[in-house]
Formats: sequence, C-alpha cells, structure tokens
Amino acid sequence: MKPPVTVLGLGAMGTALARAFLAAGHPTIVWNRTPGRSPELDALGATRATTAAEAVAASPLVVICLLVDATVHSTMEGIDLTGKTVVNLTNSTPDQARDTAKLLDAAEYLDGGIMAVPAMIGGSAAFIFYSGSAAAFEQHRDTLATLARPEYVGTDPGLAALHDIALLTGMYGMFAGAIHALALAGSEQLPAGSFTNRFLLPWLTAMLTSLPRIAKDLDDGPAEPAGSNLAMQAAAYDNLIDASVAQGVDPSLVVPMGDLLRKAVAGGYGEADLAALVGVLRTAAG
Ligand code: NDP
Repeated sequence: MKPPVTVLGLGAMGTALARAFLAAGHPTIVWNRTPGRSPELDALGATRATTAAEAVAASPLVVICLLVDATVHSTMEGIDLTGKTVVNLTNSTPDQARDTAKLLDAAEYLDGGIMAVPAMIGGSAAFIFYSGSAAAFEQHRDTLATLARPEYVGTDPGLAALHDIALLTGMYGMFAGAIHALALAGSEQLPAGSFTNRFLLPWLTAMLTSLPRIAKDLDDGPAEPAGSNLAMQAAAYDNLIDASVAQGVDPSLVVPMGDLLRKAVAGGYGEADLAALVGVLRTAAG
C-alpha cells in the first residue's frame, strides 16, 4: 500500500494535488479552512479532517498549499510536527521560505515552487522545484513525483522559491513584450491571430534561441564581439517608445528596458552584448 499523505488547502491547486495523490493510490487526508470545499474529492476517497492539527497527525508527509506565506504561519501555529515532513508548496519569496523553515523546524522541511497550473498536475509537462532537507526529498521523492517532475535544487530552503520566481519573471517579461506588440498591431487593426501566428511567435521563438549563448557568455565571458551591440540597441530603442506613443499605445511596459540599455551604455558597455545587462541590473540592485 502507498504511504498516506496530508494536503492542507483545497483551493484550485491544493485540490489538483489531492486529486493526483488519490489517483495514484495514496490514502489522502485533506483539510481546508472552509469545510466542504471541492466535494468531488470525497467520491475519489479523500478523508476529511476537521482541523489542520488532525490532518497533520494523520500522515508522516504533510503538503501545504495555501494562499500566501502568512496563511501558512497562522495555520501551522501550535501544531505538533514531531517526526513529520512538511512540504510547503505555497508561493513564497526566498526569505519567506527560509523563515518558514525556521518556524517549522520541528519537521523535516522542504519548500517548493510549482511550475504548472492546476490542470497540468499529474501530467508530463509539470515540474516542481524543491529545496531544503535533502533526506526528506530522497525519502519522499517517489510520492512527490506523483504531482509533477520533482527538481531538487539545494539545501537552502529559499532556493526553490528563487528558481520559481526567476522563471516567473522570465515569463512575465516575455508576455509584457508580446502584449505590447499586440497593442501596437491592434493600433492599426491588424488581426491578432495572423499577426501572432505568422510573425510574433516565429520571431520570439527565433530570438529565444540566443538564450543559451547569453548564458554561456555569463558563465565563461564573451566569446566573440557582439553582433548587435548595446550602443546600437539603445539608439534604436527610442523608436520603440516614440512609435508606441504616436500609435496611442502606453509605453510603460517597454520603457524600463530602454532605461537599462542607456544605463549600460553610460556605464561603458556600449560595445557589449545583451548578456552585459545582467551585471548592470545586479549592480543597480546591489
Ligand atoms: P486558491 O485561491 O484557489 O485557494 C487558496 C487556498 O488558501 C484555499 O484553500 C483557502 O481556503 C486557503 N486560505 C486562504 N486564506 C486562508 C487563511 N487565512 N487561513 C487558512 N486557509 C486560507 O489558490 P490556489 O489553490 O490556486 O493557490 C494556492 C497556492 O498555490 C498559492 O500560493 C499559489 O500562488 C500557488 N500556485 C498556484 C497556481 C495556480 O495556477 N493556481 C500555480 C502555481 C502555484 P478557503 O477555501 O477557506 O478560502
């Protein structure tokens, strides 16, 4: 028989997690603040606990999927975690994850970052970052693999959140550019579908193939002179802003990249490639 699992939180994601455990044959004990949420889990064999403490007591492995970090702290307050492994899949910052690991130090702690939407859970495209207790990860790897491909990224509990947030910033940056491009196309009534399928998607796909080269430049130093140096890009970028304003499109999604290009050129990186912007950004934050 497969080991039992407790799931705290039956929102859209917690319900998908519980459903995947049930489908794989894990006895699954569930708790949600608002009783009776996701009634379909009852028919699948879930056992409902009336309190979070009762749910935690029922399994050695406790998976938490609540709204935000503060919800986790208030829910877990005063619960005996002796001998438990807690896997917190609630979205957090790296520092929040480290604080939660300290707060729940009576348990073996793994923090997680889910790279999927609920419908993807249990499917082959989903993956979940884990960091924290290596022993807990090894012990529960097979159970966690029920949800999504498990990717363990280190003993620092904050590292899963760092990976998660880095991928999300990549995604939002990409969508910000695409949304702006669609607004520009729409300013001349170009059909979004054909503009996207004929031009935007192939262009973005082609541009993304340069990412491994950018990463290699960061790891090993630039291998060759930039084909499209930052001085040229900064000069051309003004046209992106001017054309947007002239077309009645709010440029606020694309202005920051122009600012960063100018800052890089002013800092002496005019002959460098896009990879140099990573250092400029890190210096600015530091
Ligand atoms: P939902 O809004 O659907 O569910 C939120 C859950 O948190 C519910 O179980 C809710 O309980 C509970 N909750 C909220 N406030 C409290 C509280 N004060 N005390 C106790 N429980 C509380 O969110 P999701 O399930 O979609 O998301 C859960 C986590 O998963 C989030 O951290 C989210 O960022 C992350 N995530 C979600 C993804 C998605 O696409 N949905 C993708 C990747 C990560 P109640 O029913 O009582 O309100």
